Amino acid sequence: MRNMIRTASSTIQTQEKTDLLALTLPQLQQWLKERGEASFRAKQIYNWLFRQLVPDFAAMKNLPQTLRTRLEEEASIGLMTVRSEQHSKDGRTRKLLLELSDGRLIETVLMLYPPIGDGSSRATVCVSSQAGCALGCTFCATGQMGFDRHLTAGEIVAQVLYFARELKDAPWRAAGLPHSTPIDHITNIVLMGMGEPMHNYTNVMQALHILNSNDGFNLGARHMTISTAGLLPGIQKLSQEDLQINLAISLHAPTNELRSKTMPINNRYPIEQLIEACHEYIKATGRQVTFEYVLLAGVNDTPEHATQLANLLAPFKQLAHVNCIPVNVTTAAYSTPGPDAIRTFRQILTEHSVSNTVRAERGDDIAAACGQLRTRFENRKNIAKGATTLPIVQ
Ligand code: SAH
Ligand code: SF4
Repeated sequence: MRNMIRTASSTIQTQEKTDLLALTLPQLQQWLKERGEASFRAKQIYNWLFRQLVPDFAAMKNLPQTLRTRLEEEASIGLMTVRSEQHSKDGRTRKLLLELSDGRLIETVLMLYPPIGDGSSRATVCVSSQAGCALGCTFCATGQMGFDRHLTAGEIVAQVLYFARELKDAPWRAAGLPHSTPIDHITNIVLMGMGEPMHNYTNVMQALHILNSNDGFNLGARHMTISTAGLLPGIQKLSQEDLQINLAISLHAPTNELRSKTMPINNRYPIEQLIEACHEYIKATGRQVTFEYVLLAGVNDTPEHATQLANLLAPFKQLAHVNCIPVNVTTAAYSTPGPDAIRTFRQILTEHSVSNTVRAERGDDIAAACGQLRTRFENRKNIAKGATTLPIVQ
């Protein structure tokens, strides 16, 4: 188990070309300087990449032609190919299957939320941090694939930019709300796609720094969330970061015995250590922690489990929030609890003053749980060799 957690290398060179989406502004300045180019060009390029969201160098009109040619030869802007894009019937979920430069497949999801009250719409990108995942949670389609590799910072950034471009070109307005303002930009990023972000800590943080830059994409750290199955070193490092990124913990069981059955990582970092790390995190940051709890019918959803969970989290008072997630069924081993079981579970948390919500199911018609689309794609490919794209559901 010890060997499993490897330190991520900060890969910014992919093939011979430098992926500019993997560079912070100072790194881009340095990159230009090394090539004898004026470093003030870096801000111009950053503006084209992250504000104008252009997908190629030809569009960077204020750069001299010689520099544009050089960039075309020596640099790239993301290196992924869209294999399929599916839209849910209600139009609020879009799911991408992306092929990386080495042929590996990852998924990225855009979730659109209509305005609540006087508020604005939200557009959240659910980003993958790895191709596959090494942690093998039994209910998770990605976990069942095993680990392929870490994503580079550029590959993480590119996922966000894809949907940012799409919304810029075609702002979204919720059906039935003709007077609401259409949303044309990404408001939130969650590291809840494929992979364990704390296992790829360096590249994930590099990507979030790039997306946070005032000179570029300028997304506030408070609009970013890292979800982890509980890699303690990552939680400790995050508490020391300047960026005020939100933390979500995939807890999914209130006892070690039960958690170890569905989440093998619990053998390495058991619940008491995880809870202690969360207390330390809160002490260092003053920020609330979200605890995700996938509800598996008959496994972890009984009133007894709810009471155990409430007792575990009650000491956090208002600094813990539980997000109950009815499992998105990916294997025959699990099923989703009925509405009564979910209601009772939440009621017990509320009685113990543990704040909680239930995640609305969405995007079922396009297989929204992480890893499901790729699994379906690969199964299909095995059945019908030669099939390369999935139909786009509108
Ligand atoms: N590896 C990280 C982040 C990616 S998974 C983590 O585990 O936190 C993002 C979230 O989706 C996690 O809370 C994970 O437990 C949850 N998840 C995985 N499989 C799921 C499924 N089949 N149904 C519902 N949620 C699932
Ligand atoms: Fe990995 Fe998260 Fe899936 Fe567990 S739930 S296997 S940690 S992606």
